[in-house]
Amino acid sequence: MIFNPNQLKKPLIIAGPCSAESQEQMLTTAKSLSKDVSIFRAGVWKPRTRPNSFEGVGAPALEWLKEVQSQTHLKVATEVATPEHVEKCLEANIDVLWIGARTTVNPFYVQEIAEALKGVDATVMVKNPLHPELSLWMGAIERLMMVGVKDIAAIHRGFFTLEQSVFRNEPKWELAIKLKRMHPDLPIICDPSHISGSPTMIKEVSQTAMDLNMDGLMIETHFNPKIALSDAQQQITPDQLNQLIQSLVLRTEVAQNQDFNSQLDVIRQKIDAIDNELINTIGKRTELVKEIGRFKKQNGVTILQIQRWFEIIKTRQDWANSKEIDKSMVSELFELIHKHSVLLQTHIMNQNNDD
Ligand code: PEP
Ligand code: MN
Repeated sequence: MIFNPNQLKKPLIIAGPCSAESQEQMLTTAKSLSKDVSIFRAGVWKPRTRPNSFEGVGAPALEWLKEVQSQTHLKVATEVATPEHVEKCLEANIDVLWIGARTTVNPFYVQEIAEALKGVDATVMVKNPLHPELSLWMGAIERLMMVGVKDIAAIHRGFFTLEQSVFRNEPKWELAIKLKRMHPDLPIICDPSHISGSPTMIKEVSQTAMDLNMDGLMIETHFNPKIALSDAQQQITPDQLNQLIQSLVLRTEVAQNQDFNSQLDVIRQKIDAIDNELINTIGKRTELVKEIGRFKKQNGVTILQIQRWFEIIKTRQDWANSKEIDKSMVSELFELIHKHSVLLQTHIMNQNNDD
């Protein structure tokens, strides 16, 4: 098993080009990768968003992956999107298969892939779906588990967004953390290439992934990114990859140092006390929300007065500013508080008076 959580040597590094382009490209890249890399990736079938771009060379490229397998220390991985892809990869003894972001969105495809893997001792990685829907990501993983696939990892490659962003795909780290909460033993590999979309942020994203205790990194690497037939703008060279790996600061989840652990406990107790205060305060606020809901109802007044809502957002942001607290955090917090306040008042408005 590659993804046995108890034996995984962290970080597991997966590297290789976005697409398999030629045997020479594959072997030149693979042979330049350092011993820190344990799995070689290359897309054989490429799901491109628009037609008329390079869609991969298909099954013949599996032979090149086999060459990499036999001429280097590397295991090899490629993307599968149909049962035929799975069948061809199994015939070619490809070590690791992954389900891409454009496939994870579709439970029909995932189920077909899962059926093709029934009873097979396969290793499969599941990328998050394009949009930030955790249940689709978990659903795909569970479909594989249900047919008996045991060696599974998730790949966090970020999420499509319509909003202006420095990232090609928003990391939304909180979703990867939520996945970890649901499946604590499931390794999560971060794909900083597809999150960043350009080499400049790959290092920073990789370091964040390490600091969030993720299990590995999948980084698109090409011996000459400029001539790459897909994702040329985000691939890095084997040398750059090596420098990146050397620069990573690796931290441990738990420390042996007793002094550190007892000081950590002290700080955590203080945080617990504050959280408890927060809950008590929210409780008091909720009582006032009920009172104001009943009061508006008795007087035939709507729940929402938009001016008051503008004022709440503005004043809370100003208060946050004066305490050097992140304004957007406070906005999000009050949007959540307000949402539940409106829900509670709606419930009160719709209650029968004799309830
Ligand atoms: C890829 O890894 O090259 C790829 C197509 O990624 P994604 O499915 O994350 O877009
Ligand atoms: Mn790619």
